[in-house]
Amino acid sequence: MNRLAGRRVEVLLSEEQIKQRVAELGRQVTEDYQGRDLILIGVLKGAATFMVDLARAVDLPLAMDFMAVASYGASTESSGVVRITKDLDASLQGKDVLVVEDIIDTGLTLKYMLEIIGAHDPSSVRICALFDKVKERKADVVVDYTGFTIPDKFVVGYGLDYAEAFRNLPYLGVLLPD
Ligand code: 5GP
Repeated sequence: MNRLAGRRVEVLLSEEQIKQRVAELGRQVTEDYQGRDLILIGVLKGAATFMVDLARAVDLPLAMDFMAVASYGASTESSGVVRITKDLDASLQGKDVLVVEDIIDTGLTLKYMLEIIGAHDPSSVRICALFDKVKERKADVVVDYTGFTIPDKFVVGYGLDYAEAFRNLPYLGVLLPD
């Protein structure tokens, strides 16, 4: 149990557990993408931490790009209706895209991202998500590489925030009620 900014955070996955799993995912991606034209695409801001760690665990030439999206509405759960605030920098035509996601909850954001990416005519598209919540999805998306399945709780750390705080925690934790 840790106390940060006056809030209690229960550690769900330690820094060491995450490091080990990211290294394993990197080895798997390295095996699967030999001789391919790999580009990692992440959604800001949550996926940035995982994406840069994953990229360094992949022993292949690769490119990286980021998109940023904002949800419409004020609900804490994703509506799936999103607006692009930063688009991709370059064309994906002929590229082997690996979408790097921090966490999949309802799956609605990912489904929307896949529609945008598919319109760029890439050679292939796969999904790598570090955290996958065990719950009934609202969107039917297939995740190719999963780091950890986690309980359906609001988590922070390793890129994930609560009101922009806690992204820099090196572990994944559950924010406990005061
Ligand atoms: P989805 O569209 O799959 O419901 O939501 C995905 C996005 O919602 C994630 O990329 C992340 O930004 C945010 N999200 C979902 N669950 C959590 C959570 O437990 N903690 C935090 N901090 N963000 C979450």
